[in-house]
Amino acid sequence: MKEASERSLPRPGRDFVRAIIAEDVASDKHGGRVVTRFPPEPNGFLHIGHAKSICLNFDAAAEHGGITHLRFDDTNPETEEAFYVGAIQEDVRWLGFDWGESLYFASDHFERLFAYAKELIGSGKAYVDSLSEAEIREYRGTVREPGRESPFRDRPVAENLDLFERMRGGGFGDGEHVLRAKIDMASNNMLMRDPVLYRIRHSDHYRTGSEWCIYPLYDFTHCLSDSIEGVTHSLCTLEFENNRELYDWILDNLDVPRPQPRQYEFARLSLEHAVLSKRKLLELVREGHVSGWDDPRMPTLAGLRRRGVPPGAVRAFCRTIGVAKTENRAEISKLEHAVRDELNHEAPRVMCVLRPLKLIVLNFPEDAVEELEAPYFPTDVGRDGSRVIPFTRELWIEASDFEEDPPPGFKRLVPGGEVRLRYGYVVRCVDLVKDEGGSVAEVHCTYDPETRGGATPDGRRVRGTIHWVSATRSVPAEVRLYDRLFVKADPEEDEDFKVNLNPDSLAVLTDGRVEPSVGADPPRRPVQFERTGYFVVDAVDSRPNRLVFNRTVALRDGWARVRGRAAGRRPKAGPDPRTGAAGEGAPTPARPRAARPGGRHARRLYDELVADLGVPEAEAGVLARDPDLLAFFRAALLHTGHADVMAKWVVHELGRVRDGRRVTELPFGAAELGRLVDLLSSGAVSGRAAKEVLGVLATDGGDPERVIEERGLRRESDARALGPVVSAVIGRHADEAETYRRGKKGLLGFFVGRVMKETGGAADPELSRHMLREALERR
Ligand code: ATP
Ligand code: MG
Repeated sequence: MKEASERSLPRPGRDFVRAIIAEDVASDKHGGRVVTRFPPEPNGFLHIGHAKSICLNFDAAAEHGGITHLRFDDTNPETEEAFYVGAIQEDVRWLGFDWGESLYFASDHFERLFAYAKELIGSGKAYVDSLSEAEIREYRGTVREPGRESPFRDRPVAENLDLFERMRGGGFGDGEHVLRAKIDMASNNMLMRDPVLYRIRHSDHYRTGSEWCIYPLYDFTHCLSDSIEGVTHSLCTLEFENNRELYDWILDNLDVPRPQPRQYEFARLSLEHAVLSKRKLLELVREGHVSGWDDPRMPTLAGLRRRGVPPGAVRAFCRTIGVAKTENRAEISKLEHAVRDELNHEAPRVMCVLRPLKLIVLNFPEDAVEELEAPYFPTDVGRDGSRVIPFTRELWIEASDFEEDPPPGFKRLVPGGEVRLRYGYVVRCVDLVKDEGGSVAEVHCTYDPETRGGATPDGRRVRGTIHWVSATRSVPAEVRLYDRLFVKADPEEDEDFKVNLNPDSLAVLTDGRVEPSVGADPPRRPVQFERTGYFVVDAVDSRPNRLVFNRTVALRDGWARVRGRAAGRRPKAGPDPRTGAAGEGAPTPARPRAARPGGRHARRLYDELVADLGVPEAEAGVLARDPDLLAFFRAALLHTGHADVMAKWVVHELGRVRDGRRVTELPFGAAELGRLVDLLSSGAVSGRAAKEVLGVLATDGGDPERVIEERGLRRESDARALGPVVSAVIGRHADEAETYRRGKKGLLGFFVGRVMKETGGAADPELSRHMLREALERR
C-alpha cells in the first residue's frame, strides 16, 4: 500500500542520527548490523511524541536492512499494567511498523540483570547502602556542593553479596536497603554520585507476579537490556543526556559483549495546544476531562485513530518535523496539513448537512425522486467511483447557507437570489416561512429544470454552490466537531495545565443529515463532507441505525482567522464558525498588511498559503501575486513538507540565480528545487552547500542529488572529511587521550572543542563527538 504522503514526500533525509548510523555501517562497526529499539514503559497509551521516536527507530534501522525491537521497559511494578502492553502493540502496528519476532520485556531480563549486579558487587563497584531514601538524597549534595559518602560505602564485598541476596530473598522491608554503584560522590554529574541500581518493593509485578521484591532502576536496566538484546544504537530524548555517562559506565565496568551499544539523544516532540506526558494525559482521563485515552481530542495514537487521522499522515508529520537536537514546539497546523494532504487524495466526497434548514422546491412534484449521479472524486479527473443522490421536493441545506439579510459579499442563498445545488439544479428563493420566534424555518424555492448538473444554458451567472441532502431520503447522523483541547499553545506554561483546557473543544450536533449512500454502507475510512471537512464514523459510539461522525479536520485552518483577528485584522474568509464550512467572499481587511495583496483572488491565495501551509507572510505576499512563481512553488512542494523553507527559497534564492529568466526558462524544474530544499531541511546538506548546488543547477541544470554526490556536499560525507581531523586532534593530545582511556570520559568535550576549532566550526558536533569516541576507544 502506497499512501499519498509517501507519494509526495521523499524518503527521509539524513539527520545527525542517520549520519552516525551510516558511518557505523560504513566502518563495519557491529559487523554492519543496525539494531534499534523502541522502549515504552507500559504505564499509559502512546502519544504522538512516541510516534516520532517509533518512526525514527524503525525507519533508521530499516534504511540499512536492520531491525527494531519493541521492548517494554517494565521495571516499575506500581504503575504498569498488561492492559497498556496490548494497547501499545496495537498502536505501533497501526502506525505501520512491525517488530517481527523481536518483542522483549525488561522483566524477562531480571535474572541476568541480577547476575550483572552481583558482578559489579564482586568487583567492588557496587555496594548495599542502608541509608534511608531521605538520607541518600541529603548525602547526594547539590549542583554546587559535592555529596558525602555513605557510611556503608566500604562494606566488604562478601557482606554486600550476602545482603543483596537477602534483599532478593525478601528478608527486608521496602526502603531498608538499596544497591548503589560506587562511582564518585563529587562528580559534576549528579547522576554519577553513587546512583541507586536496585530498590526493594514488595509489590506484585504484572508479569513476574511475586517472584521479585527487588526491582532494578531505569539506568541499570536500560543499557543492559540494550546490551543483552544486541541493540547497536540506543536512541532516546534529550532529557537522558546526563544519563549517558552512567549508561557507558555500567557497560564499561561489566563483562558485556563489545562493541557495546551507544546512546544518542534527539529533541523530544512537543506539540502546540497539547500536553505530551503520559502522567498528564492520565490525569485528564481519570478526572473525566476527556472520555478516555482514545478521546478524539487526545494526542494519543488511539485518539488520533478514532478521530480518523490516517497513520500515513502521522508518519508524514514526523518526517516533516525531522530529527535534531533543538527543542521546539511543533505547530498543530503542520499535523493538520499532513492530515489534509493525505485525506485529500484518499477521502471520497459526499454531502452532509450539519445544521439543517428546510428548503422546499415548489415546482418539483411531491413524490418524485430524481436520481443524480455524483462522482466521489470530483477534482481528480479520470478517477472512478460515483454514487447516486436522490433529489426530492423537500431538501435540507446548511442553515448558514441562507441569509435573509446578507452581509456584502455573501454568495449563497438570499431572498430573490439564485444558488446552485451541488450536482443538482439552480434554485431561486421565492418565499420564506418563519417560526413563532421569527427565525427562518423554511426556504421556498423554484428550480430551473434546464440547469440539471449545475450548468446554466443561457449563461447567466449564479453566485454560489451549496451542499444539500434530500429531506426524505437522507439519514440522520450525530456529528462531533472537535477543537484543540487547550487554548494556549503551551498549556504547561501555567502551573496547573488544566486551567488551559478549552471549554469548547467538543461540539455535538445532533441534527446532522447525511446522504443515503453513506447511511447504507457506513465507510470505515474518512470521507470528505463537501465544504465542511473530513469526517469518519466513530468506531466506538456509532451504530448502524445511529450514525455518529467525528470531524477529523476542517477543510481550512479556522484558527488562522482567530489569530488574524487577535493581530488586529478583521476576520478573513475562513470556515463558517458554525458549520466549519469554508466561507465564500472574503471581507476586505480594514488595514491590509503590506504583504497581503489587494485583489480578491490573490488575497485568497495568500490566506491559504499562510493559514494552511504556514508560509511566512512576506513570502506568501510575493507568491500570491506571481502565478508562475506560485505554480513553481506548488510543484516543488510535492517533494518536501517544509513549505516555509520552500517559500523562502523560491522567493529569495531562486531570485538570486534567475538572472532575468522566467522560472519556466530555467534549466531545472520545480522537482529539483523541491528535492534540494528537502535535503536542506532534513539536515542532509548545509545551507551553504544547498546554495552551491542551486548555483550549479541554475547554470548547468541537472540533478541535485548528483551534484551533491559529485561535490561531496552531503553531511554524511563529512565523516570522510572529518576522519583525518579526528586522528590529528587525538595525535596532538596523546596525554589527554590516555587519561580519557583510563576513564576520564568527561574529556570528550575537550576533544570535540578541538575538532570544532580545527574546522572553523564547520563540523557537525554530534558526528564529531561520535567519531572521536569511536577513535579514542579503538586502541
Ligand atoms: P511521557 O513523558 O509521555 O511519560 P516517557 O518518556 O516517560 O513519556 P516512555 O514510555 O518511557 O515514555 O517512552 C518510550 C520512548 O519514547 C522513549 O525512548 C522516549 O524517549 C520516547 N519519547 C517519549 N516522549 C517523546 C516525545 N515527546 N518525543 C519523542 N520521543 C518521545
Ligand atoms: Mg519514561
